[in-house]
Amino acid sequence: MEKIHNYIDGVKTSISKKELDVEDPSTGEVISKVVLSSLDDFNNAINSSKKIQEEWSNTTPLKRSRILSNYKVLIEKNIEELAKIISKEHGKTFADAKGSVTRGLEVVEFACGIPHLLKGEFSQNVGTNIDSWSIRQPLGICSGITPFNFPAMVPMWMYPIAIACGNTFILKPSEKDPSCSIKLAELFTEAGLPNGVFNVLNGDKEVVDLILDSNDISSVSFVGSTSVAKYIYEKSAKNGKRVQALGGAKNHLIVMPDANLNQAVDGIIGAGYGSAGERCMAVSVAVAVGNIADDLVNKIQLEAQKLKVAPWRDFDSDMGPVISKDHKERIENYISIGLNEGAKLVEDGRNYKIQGYENGYFIGPTLFDHVTKDMTIYKEEIFGPVLSVVRVDNYDQALSLANDHQYGNGASIYTSDGEVSRHFTTNSNIGMVGVNVPIPVPMAFHSFGGWKQSLFGDCSVHGMEGIRFYTKLKTVTSRWPKSIKDGPEFKMPTN
Ligand code: NAD
Repeated sequence: MEKIHNYIDGVKTSISKKELDVEDPSTGEVISKVVLSSLDDFNNAINSSKKIQEEWSNTTPLKRSRILSNYKVLIEKNIEELAKIISKEHGKTFADAKGSVTRGLEVVEFACGIPHLLKGEFSQNVGTNIDSWSIRQPLGICSGITPFNFPAMVPMWMYPIAIACGNTFILKPSEKDPSCSIKLAELFTEAGLPNGVFNVLNGDKEVVDLILDSNDISSVSFVGSTSVAKYIYEKSAKNGKRVQALGGAKNHLIVMPDANLNQAVDGIIGAGYGSAGERCMAVSVAVAVGNIADDLVNKIQLEAQKLKVAPWRDFDSDMGPVISKDHKERIENYISIGLNEGAKLVEDGRNYKIQGYENGYFIGPTLFDHVTKDMTIYKEEIFGPVLSVVRVDNYDQALSLANDHQYGNGASIYTSDGEVSRHFTTNSNIGMVGVNVPIPVPMAFHSFGGWKQSLFGDCSVHGMEGIRFYTKLKTVTSRWPKSIKDGPEFKMPTN
C-alpha cells in the first residue's frame, strides 16, 4: 500500500513509523497510509528551512516572482491530476475540485506581483534634509495548519504569499487528504524553488504542538474548526508568534419578499449542498422573510430532490460523500437532534445508499423547516448537507439573527431593494457579505476572513492582509549631513 511521506528539502522522506489510514470516502476503503511525523521529522524540516532562509530572503522579489510564474504554468498543466488527487481522498466532485485548485491558483497569480506588492512608502523631507521610508521584511520560518475540506485552496491561501515575501514555509496539511500538498510541493520544486523553502510535514496534534512550541517558527496560519482555532491562537500568542486562526461558520442567506425567488433558490441549493455542505462558506441557514417562506421551502425541496448524489467518478454528480464514517454519524446525529427539538424535517438524507457504494459516506440533501434560534441545529456548525430554514416576519429580525450568531464568517441577502441591501452590507456583524450572490468569497487580490468565532487574530488571509501578515514593517529615518557639526539636541525636533 502506498505510504505518503513528508516533503522535506525537495525529497519525499519520513522517519516516524507511526501512520494513519487514508480512505476513499466513496467506498470506505483504505487507499493509502500517511506518516504521523515525530520530533525527528520536525527537526528535519526545521533544519532544512533554516539552511535556506537567509539566501531566500535575499533573493530579489523579481526572481521570486519568476519562480512563482513558472509555478502558475505548472499548476495549470497539472490541474486535472491535482483535482483527481483531491476528489479521490476528499470525495468532492471532479469539477468542484478543479474549481478549488483554480481559486488557489489565483493566489499564486496575485503573489507573482510581489515586487509591486512589497513597495513601501517614502516621504522626502520629513525634517530638514531628512527622508523617511518604510519597508516590509520577511518573518523567517512561517507555518500553516490546514483542514480537510480544501486540500489545495486553503494551503494556497497561505504559502505562495509567505514565500513570495521571502519567508520559508512549513505546511501541516490535514491527515485526512494529505496527497495534494505533496504534489503541490513537487511542482514548486520543478518550478525552480530552492529545496527547503517549502516543506510539507504530515501528522496530527503531536506535530502541531511541536510547531506551536518551536522557537524557530515565527508565525502560524491556521484554518479549521473553532475549538482548535482557539487553541492554536492562544498557544501561539503565548509563545510570542504572529497568528491568524480561522474557525467554523454558520452562514445565513436572507431571502427578502421582493427577491427573485428562482435566483435565491439556485443560490441556496448550490451553496447549501455543494461539496456536501463541507465548505466554510456553505449556506447552512436560509432566512425566509415575511410571506415568501412557503414558496421558498417548496422550491428548495423540489430542487433538492433533483440533485444527483454520487461518487466523484460519475461526472454528472452534484455532490459526493462526506469525509469519514465518524463525520457521517455526527451529521446524522444532528438530524435526529433537530427532529427531537421540534424542527420539521422536510427532506431526510439519512440512510442514503448508492448501489455499488454501500460502504461510502453518503448523506442525501437534508432540509429542515421551522428551525428556531434556540435549537442545536441552528446554534452549531453541522458541516454537512443539512439546510435549516428559519422564518421571520421582517428584515430587522433577519439582520438580528445573523448578527447575534456566534459565527460571523459569511452572510448574503437576496433582494431587489438597494436601500435594504446597503443597510445590510453596512450593519451586518459578519466578515464577508454578499448581495444577490450566495457565497461571497473574496478573490485573491482581496482578503478572506470572518468575524466573531470565525477568526482569531488581526489579519485575514491573502490579498494585502496576507502581505501584512507575512512581513514585518520597518521604518527608516535617514539623513546625510554635511560636515557641519550640529551638536546634541535636547528638545523634541519639530521640523
Ligand atoms: P479540524 O479543526 O479538525 O482540523 C484542522 C487542522 O488542525 C488539521 O490539520 C488537523 O490535523 C489539526 N488538528 C485537529 N485537531 C487538533 C488538535 N486538537 N490540536 C492541534 N491540531 C489539531 O478541522 P477539519 O475537520 O479538518 O475542517 C473542518 C473545519 O474547518 C470546519 O469547522 C470548517 O468550518 C473549518 N474551515 C474554516 C474555514 C474558514 O475560512 N474559516 C475554511 C475551511 C474550513
